[in-house]
Amino acid sequence: SKPLYKWRRVLLKVSGEALAGDHAQNIDPKVTMSIAREVASVTRLGIEVAIVVGGGNIFRGSSWAGCSGLDRSSADYIGMLATVMNAIFLQATMESIGIPTRVQTAFRMSEVAEPYIRRRAIRHLEKGRVVIFAAGTGNPFFTTDTAAALRCAEINAEVVLKATNVDGVYNDDPRLNPNAVLLDTLSYQDVTTKDLSVMDLTAITMCQENNIPVVVFNLSKPGNISKAILGERVGTLIGG
Ligand code: UDP
Repeated sequence: SKPLYKWRRVLLKVSGEALAGDHAQNIDPKVTMSIAREVASVTRLGIEVAIVVGGGNIFRGSSWAGCSGLDRSSADYIGMLATVMNAIFLQATMESIGIPTRVQTAFRMSEVAEPYIRRRAIRHLEKGRVVIFAAGTGNPFFTTDTAAALRCAEINAEVVLKATNVDGVYNDDPRLNPNAVLLDTLSYQDVTTKDLSVMDLTAITMCQENNIPVVVFNLSKPGNISKAILGERVGTLIGG
């Protein structure tokens, strides 16, 4: 289909759950390889791709906080470290098929990855490298969706492409309601008022305030990542 948008620089958000696929382990190498292949096909066309990875496949701070004295901040730091594991896995996969990729972490782990330096990230993108942002925002109590909105605004990317395990946003929970309808477009307002659990409020508010459109789409359908990056109609578009 004909692209609706011509993105020049995109921020792809890959949740931890999406990385898990249907693999018994935390990460499905088939999923990371398909992400790598699809990203490769668009970077060849000159589109700049930055990625924020989640960590929910390994550790989610909010579900562990309170367990045997684990405070929320400590739990969240573990969660952020989980995103670094995913980032390194994804980087290694991308480089195995020849895509130059840099990981930048929100807090220093300089033996493992570069620290986040905005101008340096932009320079990498301009040189055609993929940049993976890991460790979320670097702060407990936030999510990697918020990190995606934040990094998108910082590096002047034009859109957040949120890759998930569902086709997009429905008007009701499709697992519970067989008549739930997949929505083509949504306003930011719809997301914040209708409790559609697309993104947390911090993340969606950040997108709204900076006029960043968000596309929610299913990464497990072959071709969807490249379609989303190429600006073709896929999933649900949030904006306006
Ligand atoms: N996290 C955090 N601050 C951030 C981003 C993430 O504390 O800026 C922690 C938080 O504990 C979260 C975990 O890292 O549960 C994994 O991130 P997230 O749940 O956003 O991953 P996803 O849902 O995308 O897999």
